[in-house]
Amino acid sequence: MPRYEFRCRACGDTFEVNRPMAHAGEPASCPQGHADTVKLLSTVAVTGRGGAGAPSAAPAAPAGGGCCGGGCCG
Ligand SMILES: [Zn+2]
Repeated sequence: MPRYEFRCRACGDTFEVNRPMAHAGEPASCPQGHADTVKLLSTVAVTGRGGAGAPSAAPAAPAGGGCCGGGCCG
């Protein structure tokens, strides 16, 4: 079943909906319950996945420091 990506204009969230192609143009409600959504351009790949992993976002390292130097950490 093709997968369609929607974007909610109320909360800005994007979500995916699996639905038959016959219902591709129907509106979808976002997971938060908003009905003001738009369908994004479908980039559905019917062929097999290549196996490329999504780039992992590394957590931002704390810059600087110095909090514990002044005794504010306990
Ligand atoms: Zn929403």
